[in-house]
Amino acid sequence: MLADGATVPDGEVVRGDVCVVGGGPAGLAIARELGAAGIEVVLLERGPDSGRPPPPDTAVNVGIPYHLDTSRSFEVGGSVQRWRARTPLGRGFGRLRELERIDFERRDWIQHSGWPFAKEALQTFYARARQLFEFDWPSEDPEQTWDRELHSGPFAVDSALTTKVFSFANPAVFPGVVWRSIRNSEQVLALTNSVAVELRSDASPSHISSVLVRTAREHGFTVEARVYVLAAGGIENPRLLLASRHRHPDGVGNDHDLVGRFFMEHPHYASGRLTPANGDAFSRDEHFSIHVHDGIPIQKKYTLPDEVVRREGLLGCAFRFEPKPVTISNHTLRYSQEALRSIERATKLGRSFARRRLPPGGLTDLAAAIGGSHHIARYLANRVTVMLGRRLRIPRYVDPSQFFLRTMAEQAPNPDSRVRLSAERDAFGVPIAELDWRLSAQDLDSMRRTQELVGRVLRTVGRHRRVESLLKEGALPPALSGGNHHMGTTRMHDSPREGVVDRQGRVHGVHNLYVAGSSVFPTVGYANPTLTLLALALRLADHVKGELT
Ligand SMILES: Cc1cc2nc3c(=O)[nH]c(=O)nc-3n(C[C@H](O)[C@H](O)[C@H](O)COP(=O)(O)OP(=O)(O)OC[C@H]3O[C@@H](n4cnc5c(N)ncnc54)[C@H](O)[C@@H]3O)c2cc1C
Repeated sequence: MLADGATVPDGEVVRGDVCVVGGGPAGLAIARELGAAGIEVVLLERGPDSGRPPPPDTAVNVGIPYHLDTSRSFEVGGSVQRWRARTPLGRGFGRLRELERIDFERRDWIQHSGWPFAKEALQTFYARARQLFEFDWPSEDPEQTWDRELHSGPFAVDSALTTKVFSFANPAVFPGVVWRSIRNSEQVLALTNSVAVELRSDASPSHISSVLVRTAREHGFTVEARVYVLAAGGIENPRLLLASRHRHPDGVGNDHDLVGRFFMEHPHYASGRLTPANGDAFSRDEHFSIHVHDGIPIQKKYTLPDEVVRREGLLGCAFRFEPKPVTISNHTLRYSQEALRSIERATKLGRSFARRRLPPGGLTDLAAAIGGSHHIARYLANRVTVMLGRRLRIPRYVDPSQFFLRTMAEQAPNPDSRVRLSAERDAFGVPIAELDWRLSAQDLDSMRRTQELVGRVLRTVGRHRRVESLLKEGALPPALSGGNHHMGTTRMHDSPREGVVDRQGRVHGVHNLYVAGSSVFPTVGYANPTLTLLALALRLADHVKGELT
């Protein structure tokens, strides 16, 4: 059943067995599973049923320049509504890949690493998670077969590099068929435009008794349930926990100051440049581009073998080859942190002026906005030259003659990389989140060493003409961005001193509150998170079903 939260009378109490906060893929998957099992669910989604809402005003960035506005979406379907990969089967797809076995292990060279269980515990849930996308998968576990079958070609130089195949899927099923089945369900009451603003504990701090919901400044209601599941995304999950101070002075689940800490992204960057041994490499499309195999769009990436990663004490990382003409300069905008900072600060100032107020630190923002402007000028000059060169079909502006190595790395768990509450408040008076994404010396060293080893393999075993590293000691890598993956902020660990949730996703010390989504990942590997967070969501739904029935 679907209703706009604004139609619920002000002050009303809505009741159900389970209250799920957030209608992204995790929340939708859980609500559908529970509803199908006859459990009464109240699903709260802050966004509308259809139509793109304005960018969220619930967080501000204070760390590495980060595109917060476009890295999530507050609407039915959540952030998958922003997936944008173009494949031969259509646009708006996203990458799927399971985490590797090694990602679940405790690795003694990575502090705080390891999951409370091995990958095997998720295997059947991974297969069920794939089925959610309603693709005709060739097998339950296609990656293993593809990695083996497709390990060939000019780049997968014998066993010195390992091929990892990423598949692509269309997430339209979430705002589509999954959402429709929820809307038509007798068991699920889906309330849109309904913002959960506080978790309340009336009887005891170890029990959540209700969620306060606002639909407008002057209008709100309460949801009471036996079990609560937070599935609001990797920034909003910790924000809601931290902002819920009714019986918990430091926020719910935060007795050990862990909520919001360990924010991890998958740093995406250009790690190197390769001039291949001969031009044939550019015609072997299947080694670098997105193409269809077994009826599924896929793309190959490459990693160092696990034994090298272990021997060298590295973090995980996968790279792909991106063909480019030589004229694409390293000094384009995406290669400059100062330029990104400049744009980020200028946008922030613009917004504040539109609201007719100067934000705290406005002068520092202005200085940063002006400071990066010469990088922007340089970028624009490069773009205009390249555009003209392409228009005029000048070969050096059109024909690829080199490959950029586009890398996506694992970030080490780091308590100082975090989400905390800001002094600023949103429209409902809830403190907004402050994102302070940081990379450590270990992250940067691992990126450089990996590129060094990959370069050596490509030069010696692959006999490619030239491989140049683009990574400099101590500096952030060029073209650095996040992958829109918000992970780690309510990490999973058996001990409440090391994690916010236990191995089922239950908040330590609060027996009827669970968290779903990639905020529970304690270590993140290099793979995109959604397949894993869906596997965990299905596992959690089974657990809650078991508890309630
Ligand atoms: C541009 C882009 C490309 C991406 N590409 C990929 C990819 O290729 N592969 C991949 O695996 N991942 C990708 N991701 C990441 C992926 O979208 C997320 O991992 C996934 O959507 C997270 O699912 P979730 O349900 O945990 O949270 P979200 O999708 O963030 O959904 C959370 C939902 O909760 C709602 N909500 C938030 N706060 C509240 C509140 N207080 N009350 C009520 N409701 C609330 C929000 O409106 C939202 O609908 C991409 C993300 C972006 C932005």
